[in-house]
Amino acid sequence: MPTDQIPETKTLTPASLTSNELNDWCPGCGDSGIVMAVKNAIAGAGLDPHKTVIVSGIGCSSKLPHLVNVNGIHTLHGRAIPFAEGIKLANPELTVIIDSGDGDTYGIGAGHFVSAGRRNVDIKLFVHDNGVYALTKGQASPTLPEETKVKGIPEPNINGALSPLSIAILAGYTFVARTQSYNVKEQTEIMIRAIKHKGLAIVDILQGCPTYNPEFTSATWFSQHTVQLPKDYDGSVKDPTNKEEVYQKKINALKLLMEETPEKMNTGVLFEFEDPDTFESRLIKRNIKPPIPQSIADENGKSNVDLKGVIDELSI
Ligand code: SF4
Repeated sequence: MPTDQIPETKTLTPASLTSNELNDWCPGCGDSGIVMAVKNAIAGAGLDPHKTVIVSGIGCSSKLPHLVNVNGIHTLHGRAIPFAEGIKLANPELTVIIDSGDGDTYGIGAGHFVSAGRRNVDIKLFVHDNGVYALTKGQASPTLPEETKVKGIPEPNINGALSPLSIAILAGYTFVARTQSYNVKEQTEIMIRAIKHKGLAIVDILQGCPTYNPEFTSATWFSQHTVQLPKDYDGSVKDPTNKEEVYQKKINALKLLMEETPEKMNTGVLFEFEDPDTFESRLIKRNIKPPIPQSIADENGKSNVDLKGVIDELSI
């Protein structure tokens, strides 16, 4: 879908949702805006549904693969990233998208979230970030700001919030962006850029949870507390061989993130660097080939896999 045909915002009413979305998510849930954007982005990026996979962990967000007509896998809590890396490395022809929540990705799966940056596998991580573990009744997640009171905790949050995008930049993610769930047009444009980016991309999507975090995640609150990056901000590295440019673009993005507050958060693409050093390129250098594209039988169906070396190695 051309992005100029996508409405700026989408009012999420029960009437605007499909019966599946109504069954899966509360009325007005930002996840419904995200699934619209994911569908738009898959169409807008020209992806073949047969060669697209959506992977999720556990949480309200993680029901998304059930609602998009591509391949999908709903995995374990905090484990969506290693599943997605395995799928992509086994079959590099696939476009692999992760849709998971903030608790799932930055809490339970924090180790995988950081380690993914060391590899730079060509996968896309879309994080539905509502500040709470909504599926389990609204406990504070790692992105809930300190002193914020939400329904699922008896006192205001005593912990400080993580800055996941700062962590992503420092860990080695090569595309780092933020958007919000009620702006379907902005989400779609950023997701298309993330999908087309070669390398590990993260899009943190500030997501409305009208049930457990209604005060700080309503469409009105987001419109008052988010601001699009200025037109003259350019986080894209033009020359991937220029280490000074990469360093400076990272510093610029980190400075923006450190200076912002929950009262005024930037949306847009903060950092983009097509680093040729992907995990896939490291495997090629070691002459390790992905298994799925390899032929396992000749034209007569006879196996052409030579297991002799493996059998010899295992024999006692
Ligand atoms: Fe959405 Fe919150 Fe309801 Fe979960 S609990 S479906 S995140 S509104």
